[in-house]
Amino acid sequence: MTSNSKTISSKRTEIRGALDAQGKAQKLLVEDGIFVEKFSSNENVLAIEAAGLTVLPGLVDLHTHLREPGREDAETVLTGSQSAVAGGYTAISAMPNTLPVADTAGVVEQVFRLGAHHGLCDVFPIGAVTLGQEGKHLAELSAMNQSEAQVRIFSDDGHCVADPLVMRRALEYVKTFDGIIAQHAQDPRLTDNAQMNEGDVSARLGLKGWPAVAEEAIIARDVLLAEHVGSRLHICHLTTAGGVEIVRRAKERGIQVTAEVTPHHLLLTDDYVESYDPVFKVNPPLRTERDVEALREGLADGTIDIVATDHAPHPLEAKDCEWNAAAFGMVGLETAFSIGYLTMVKSGLISLSTLLERMSSKPADIARYSDHGSLEVGTRANFFLADLDQEWTVDRAALHSKSRNTPFHAMRLPARIMMTFHNGALVFDRGAH
Ligand SMILES: [Zn+2]
Repeated sequence: MTSNSKTISSKRTEIRGALDAQGKAQKLLVEDGIFVEKFSSNENVLAIEAAGLTVLPGLVDLHTHLREPGREDAETVLTGSQSAVAGGYTAISAMPNTLPVADTAGVVEQVFRLGAHHGLCDVFPIGAVTLGQEGKHLAELSAMNQSEAQVRIFSDDGHCVADPLVMRRALEYVKTFDGIIAQHAQDPRLTDNAQMNEGDVSARLGLKGWPAVAEEAIIARDVLLAEHVGSRLHICHLTTAGGVEIVRRAKERGIQVTAEVTPHHLLLTDDYVESYDPVFKVNPPLRTERDVEALREGLADGTIDIVATDHAPHPLEAKDCEWNAAAFGMVGLETAFSIGYLTMVKSGLISLSTLLERMSSKPADIARYSDHGSLEVGTRANFFLADLDQEWTVDRAALHSKSRNTPFHAMRLPARIMMTFHNGALVFDRGAH
């Protein structure tokens, strides 16, 4: 078998000798892109010997920046898809902060069709909440929903929908078609020109700080708005202990709120900023040890529903400069599973099955991506094979993304993605097994 990520189709595929998330022997049969109990014929069967590997439902990301259209120097739908399948993802959700902004049916259809054309994984566009992501006037939410892309999630990610009236109207609007508003919770007045987390480290370095309350105040406001309107709210990239507590209380009150945490916020703290290496510059910023602990606990007890990558590729020149001038963001698709496994499973906080809920079935459920998150007979064969015992060293030069801005370069991580299948087709094969 070749070691690249081109699609290899076979009418029938049998995965032999693998284990499932519970460590039980799991034989999988795939015919015409669907998991089946029994093949209709034994012709043209591709048998994959997977002894020593674990077979898991394809990962689903609700927060991916693909940069196309407009910033193809950083990433394209194709390179982002290649990066996704190398990380075990079979569905990704393209954030709308492109050029032009994805605030019309035309742009979301363009991204959707590019994803389908490349065919490596499902690419579901997220629509902007407001025109141009300027926070003033609602974008064409229902036209995007009724388009071929069937957009259900809307976000001004990168910017906060700061005006409470605009946020209220957006929540009311999407309620009519079971849509969801994904908020980048950050009060712009409290974070103007901020460069990192506000705390001991920012004081020591003399960098403008970004207080936790800027995030928490918006989360608190928006869960109350979601309760008032009776609509679905999703909190992007939660980073503070206080934010976890607000979401926990909101869920106890029955408010329809879901939340995500990124792999980098589960592992890294603002101590890394002392290196002044802009690879650690990210929005929202890396926080403190106490926040990291609260995020892990929140993900373990279900307060935080899912892991989302916030994969944010940037070309070298946007990161290879002094801290204040550098762009915010990190690539994350190819390291997310390993970081999740390290911080949550290896640490004993949750089981592998629960990690898969947080990275596959639950995000699929929130977004209503019905073809993902399961290995059950009769569902689409979206899955990956991992070698959980294989340690590997992250090499930014070996990433499939067009960009190199990983904060995990040279780090040793557990769990290696070996093969990924999308609709039954082998779309990634590391070739080293
Ligand atoms: Zn964001």
